[in-house]
Amino acid sequence: MISASEKIDLKNLNPSELEGFIASFGKEQYRSAQILRWLYQKGAHSIDEMTNLSKRFRQELSHVSLISTLHPLHMEQARDGTKKFLFQLADDNRIESVLIPDKTRLTLCLSTQVGCALGCRFCLTGKNGWKRDLTVSEILNQILSIRETLVDKASITNVVLMGMGEPLANYQNTLKAIQLMTYPEAFKFSSRKVTLSTAGLLPELERLTTEKIRFRLAISLNATEEEIRSQLMPINRCYPLKKILEVCRNFPLPPRTRITFEYVMVDGINDSPQDAKRLLKILRGIPSKVNLIPLNEAHGIPFKRPSEEKIKRFQEILMEGGLTAIVRTSKGAEISAACGQLQGTFSSAKFDRIEEIN
Ligand code: SAH
Ligand code: SF4
Repeated sequence: MISASEKIDLKNLNPSELEGFIASFGKEQYRSAQILRWLYQKGAHSIDEMTNLSKRFRQELSHVSLISTLHPLHMEQARDGTKKFLFQLADDNRIESVLIPDKTRLTLCLSTQVGCALGCRFCLTGKNGWKRDLTVSEILNQILSIRETLVDKASITNVVLMGMGEPLANYQNTLKAIQLMTYPEAFKFSSRKVTLSTAGLLPELERLTTEKIRFRLAISLNATEEEIRSQLMPINRCYPLKKILEVCRNFPLPPRTRITFEYVMVDGINDSPQDAKRLLKILRGIPSKVNLIPLNEAHGIPFKRPSEEKIKRFQEILMEGGLTAIVRTSKGAEISAACGQLQGTFSSAKFDRIEEIN
């Protein structure tokens, strides 16, 4: 008898790996599509639920494989409707995911690592360092588990990999997870509705240019000069702004798509009109749009958010220069669910509602 820890978690397999696995039982290829639909469309919790597979095959599968699940420990809801979910993983590490309602969208923000090794100085996730990468199933189970809490199971419209962690530092698992998010027999999100945000790991960004898997790319730029970027994001000393922009300039984008550049606005550091003008200049020639994210202040973060006027002026300069620039006031700040506030702890005292989930 194989122990549970030795069994294959079916949610860790991408479609071709699953096909190979199914073939090892001498089964037809279409069985793999059936299993994908059970896992990701019907949200099966056990192999036994897959009733269009023979009982014998289900038994054979159960001997060597399993379906992992994830249950939220807590859910907090902010007044703006944002919900933060805390999950405890099998090894007791904790991660968070955030569900953000908007007028027309319901966006789910996923974690890809426990913590983050990059230590950006404005980010709480980075302050606690990196513990480990998430498996493919741990990334996908955040979607499945949160979807189960919704009345309308098809209501999540967008997925963003902007929670805890640096997705490209967990390259293989993140890409496999995205493949399943956009795969027709699995989650079938449009590739335009899945966004990966990265601090700009150069070797992985270069590797991305060779991938067939499609999704939207967002780069956390956050500064227009090397020295300032290095101060905010120490990784810039290894992978400088100039090189990142070079890769972006040559990135094989599908027609009519743009790269999103995220720009966390930090008072007195990167928010001057000169910065805005430099930003216009360095993005020239790259199909781009800019998301301005006013800094979410937090205890232990040595920076302030700029005034509304400064943010507005910055945005105007970009727009006058022909760039699409949107100010993204982070939702869920009162429950520490906003960008850069996820720590895998449930420390916030300010909440509307907190639910214990068994
Ligand atoms: N590691 C990836 C994705 C997770 S961070 C990345 O850095 O892109 C997601 C976004 O939150 C990034 O754009 C980051 O710059 C932003 N962010 C981090 N801390 C923040 C803070 N305190 N206030 C506002 N945005 C923040
Ligand atoms: Fe990591 Fe992104 Fe936070 Fe930087 S901003 S520490 S890369 S999670």
